[in-house]
Amino acid sequence: MSEIIEESSRRTYVRVLVDAPVRGSGQQSRLFDYKLPRDLAGNVRVGHIVRVPFGHRVLTGCVVQLLTEPGVSETRSIRGLVMDEPHLTGDDVKLAFWLSQQYLCHPAVALRAMLPPDFARGRNSSTIRKRLLVATVNSPDDIPDGVSLSDKQRQVLLAAQRLGAPVTRKELSRRADVSGSVVDALIRKDILRWREVRWEQRPYDGEYHHALPDHLTDDQERVMQELEPAVSAGEPGEFLLHGVTGSGKTEIYLRVISVALQQDRDAILMVPEISLTPQMVARVKGRFGDRVAVMHSELTPKERATEWYRLHRGEADVALGPRSAVFAPCRDLGVIVLDEEHDSAYKQESAPRYHARRVARRRAERAGCPLLLGSATPCLESYHRARSGQATRLSLPRRVDERPMPEVTVVDIREEWAAGNRSLFSRHLHRCIVDRLERSEQSVLFLNRRGYSSFLLCTECGEAIQCAHCNVTMTYHRKEQRLRCHYCDRRMPVPSQCPFCGGHRLARRGAGTQKVEAAVRAAFPGAVVARLDTDSARIKGTRGRVYQQFASGDVDILVGTQMVAKGWDVPGVTLVGVIDADTALNFPDFRSAERTFQLLLQVAGRAGRGERSGEVIIQTMAPAHPAVVHAASGDLDRFYRCELDERRQVRYPPYGGLVRLLLRGRPEARVQFWAQDLARQIQKALDTGVEIIGPAPAPIDRIKDSYRWHLLLKMDPSTASLAGLEEVLQNMRVGSQDPRITVDVDPMQML
Ligand code: ADP
Ligand code: ZN
Repeated sequence: MSEIIEESSRRTYVRVLVDAPVRGSGQQSRLFDYKLPRDLAGNVRVGHIVRVPFGHRVLTGCVVQLLTEPGVSETRSIRGLVMDEPHLTGDDVKLAFWLSQQYLCHPAVALRAMLPPDFARGRNSSTIRKRLLVATVNSPDDIPDGVSLSDKQRQVLLAAQRLGAPVTRKELSRRADVSGSVVDALIRKDILRWREVRWEQRPYDGEYHHALPDHLTDDQERVMQELEPAVSAGEPGEFLLHGVTGSGKTEIYLRVISVALQQDRDAILMVPEISLTPQMVARVKGRFGDRVAVMHSELTPKERATEWYRLHRGEADVALGPRSAVFAPCRDLGVIVLDEEHDSAYKQESAPRYHARRVARRRAERAGCPLLLGSATPCLESYHRARSGQATRLSLPRRVDERPMPEVTVVDIREEWAAGNRSLFSRHLHRCIVDRLERSEQSVLFLNRRGYSSFLLCTECGEAIQCAHCNVTMTYHRKEQRLRCHYCDRRMPVPSQCPFCGGHRLARRGAGTQKVEAAVRAAFPGAVVARLDTDSARIKGTRGRVYQQFASGDVDILVGTQMVAKGWDVPGVTLVGVIDADTALNFPDFRSAERTFQLLLQVAGRAGRGERSGEVIIQTMAPAHPAVVHAASGDLDRFYRCELDERRQVRYPPYGGLVRLLLRGRPEARVQFWAQDLARQIQKALDTGVEIIGPAPAPIDRIKDSYRWHLLLKMDPSTASLAGLEEVLQNMRVGSQDPRITVDVDPMQML
């Protein structure tokens, strides 16, 4: 022991990553050595947040290394610690540097992602003094002589005693189911008394109840038999839980977390942002109560800090949140769970551009704990890992309630056109909606609005015009009246004939939800219609309100984008219509088939959750496309095998890494020149293992008058090649007039 103290007290210098606005992305910049004043020597650890002199200012920084000798001759002394305990652990700091290498961001940016808001001020004490009520007697029989209580007053007193903790007037009257005046009467009689207490404001405070099922289904039992030993023993390992919607996956997550807690270890449960609904919070809090810390971007910074420090102090040991929860300050992880693991919300689209699944995998490996990924439609990468033995596949093939999956019908839009029906609704879909309206059942009409860019489709054979080199759809440019590939920039005139069938009727496609809403109102005048998409949801509270209206049965037809595909569980829905599966299918992204398949399956899961069975109608011009065919039959394995084959041929993930470089600036010629120059430099500097696609204009080629070009690098994203790429970028001259370059490793969207 004395040896260790001597050892650390000899380390009288520290290397600090100073938290200052970061210019340039050099990995080594912002690292400075400082001397420890005598009173701190031996007390400072890696992960401590310290105050340091920096020029004429005092800034905060994070200790990343203890040193016996400084790297420079002149060092200044650190001023002090922000908080006695370190905010981060040595492992956290390592993770930050790993992130910075893997995603080419500055380590300070990575560290920030791990720290609570306002960490520079130390532990936030969000406690306020609050006046709460406490009982002055132990039981209703204990009341002083001469005081009598009415039945209602006894009720209040009982409720207060059952609670055993200070409580607000409002909460007490709610619990006792009486009016506030009854509570006031007890205060006058001095049976209840006000007391000032320190009160910590927490998000989602309150009591939650959620029923614990009596027993697991046979499928759930089988899954737990695999998971329980792994979590109990704290063995690292990756599990992919594939279970249809309603098969009881969430119940599995809760059980697995329970097992971890029994071992006195912590747990992280991640959900896509959009799924962090009050229902989900209630379910997790109902099981684990105050041990749950909810981390959510919609919380105030103060609330987020409160939850962070609760985990940090060990008062909470279950972190529930979207992707950022992957950095939760849990000290001894027993399990990490990602629900809906295929969801692209797990990728952060600003620096650090990490993918929570990958960070979770890294954390689980280092912590020696299982990683559980769950989905009804796993992403292809995870599916591939399970197939190649890097993850264990577990499945829940049936719904808990044993309800059958809805019946799916595919309607060929070409036949509608041929029959002279040019409306958005096929005759079959139209009939079905009318039928639902007559029976007072609900319908959901789904459209993937990401089809903002138009593409060209043959109305005879249903094929979309694709780039011969990139496996993505060519985009129609109105201004040039030409087709352009947004991956490689190949251009072609609009063909007069379909290259596949020779047909002469080529049509541009891409309708939005607003258009569909208008068409629905026109076609079904008596119906109550609501719309939900990212535009309408931007108005705060819209999502909740529309959900309430819909769930209570006030709305007949809901028109929406993928927002409605996720998590909405409305028993009255018996019909789901996919207006146009092709917009998603023909999106210029190599993942479009995978996403379409996942989306169709998720949307289909919305139908028939109640007593009556459901029906799904998919309208498409590509009824033979594997994504449509296999989604209709629910045959996930067939589709994934087929899609994996395609990916292998062109070396797209999971068969190769991908890095996207996005350049933004003006004028366009300058951005283009830079993009081409960058491509040349990379070609020269990196080995032949790198294949460069592009440069080309990004699918959204201009935002706010800033022109956007991108190039894709098919490369093995090893540390060495990324370091090489970073060097190229470092050497590019960056003046204020030059385009801004964004590096996105493992990009999930290409807009
Ligand atoms: P998923 O997460 O796969 O969609 P859930 O875990 O939400 O499925 O389960 C679907 C429904 O079934 C929920 O209402 C849940 O409370 C219920 N449920 C889950 N497991 C059981 C069980 N073993 N017994 C009874 N009900 C269950
Ligand atoms: Zn191309």
